[in-house]
Amino acid sequence: MLVRKITADNIYSNVCPAINNGVLIVKDDGTVLDLLDSKDGLEDVEYHSGALCPGFVNAHCHLELSHLFGRLPQKKGLLNFLKPIIKIRAAEEEVILSAMIEADQSMVDNGIVAVGDIGNESASFKLKSKSKIQYHNFVEVIGFSPEDAEEKFKLGLNIFEQSLEMDLPGSVVPHAPYSVSPELLARINERSAERGFPVCFHSQESKAELALFQNRGGGLPELYREMGVNIDFFQPSTKSSLAWMASNLSSAPKLMAVHNTFSTVDDIRMAVEYFPNMYWCFCPNANLYIEDTTPDFSLFVDFPHRITIGTDSLASNEVLSILEEIKTISTEDSTIDLASLIKWATMNGAEYLGMADKLGSFEKGKKPGVNLISSLAENGQRLTADSKVHKLA
Ligand SMILES: [Zn+2]
Repeated sequence: MLVRKITADNIYSNVCPAINNGVLIVKDDGTVLDLLDSKDGLEDVEYHSGALCPGFVNAHCHLELSHLFGRLPQKKGLLNFLKPIIKIRAAEEEVILSAMIEADQSMVDNGIVAVGDIGNESASFKLKSKSKIQYHNFVEVIGFSPEDAEEKFKLGLNIFEQSLEMDLPGSVVPHAPYSVSPELLARINERSAERGFPVCFHSQESKAELALFQNRGGGLPELYREMGVNIDFFQPSTKSSLAWMASNLSSAPKLMAVHNTFSTVDDIRMAVEYFPNMYWCFCPNANLYIEDTTPDFSLFVDFPHRITIGTDSLASNEVLSILEEIKTISTEDSTIDLASLIKWATMNGAEYLGMADKLGSFEKGKKPGVNLISSLAENGQRLTADSKVHKLA
């Protein structure tokens, strides 16, 4: 058996505090054999400058939108981002497929080992079933009119079954509070409890969503009018959009709110009353692309085990890199330490996706991937603009 003994300035294992000059021992296929405090007495140890961490988990992506790279307006807000998508999303099958293949490979190169990927159709399933990355398919359903609930849910369920047939774990999930009815949510809630799948949704990504729930204000009613969708039935809620989703999806085994850009202390407090173990996914580079702002990360300090990181899609990001996302968080909030950022970027996502038995930490028997993060500052404790990820295993 070929064995690699890898040392670096620091090892972030997610099982103990960072080990200075420790040694990670892995089989040549990447299976963790041991984690040692020192290299004393060992021969043939590989040394790398920087920090080792497990492979990254991208908790939120849309591989299907990869061909829209560079085609949508930046910093003009969510509604101006969404409107053209409807028009330009359609493309030749080959164009869509080759963009997805390239995006998948770029994630491998960026040290990503697992992805929670949103899809509205099954076009990506074949490539995912052959990928080096482990995918979980979040089959996303949209349907604001209550009369559409059964039809939309059945469509989603059909795609979900196709995913399972290809040995890709999956879920049926709602798009966002402003695009689903309580009737559709009830079906997702019931089925997620029955089948045990995790649920996620886009949450408080724009002020327009908050305004719709407060008093039918903001730009969404107009967008629906333009699209010919009647939303007369919609009544503003006494709850925030986030709490409304949490209350409607309270039977889901796991629930993750994605983005949280405009969430307030009160929104979060109210949501966890309905769903105490809520996960929170941050995709800050997409938030900067679309809304030119990021969440207030300090509001989430009470949930160190349930914060995850996503890249969103290439429609709203320059690159699909979890390292680039945590670099942005580190710049926006310098109080968050590297150990926390790495845990969010690895272990927490693996737990949310139900993959923590194999991924997320350097524990014996796991095969989590091994990343080296180079060009750190402050004794290897802080990311810099130059930090890069190198996939070692
Ligand atoms: Zn998204």
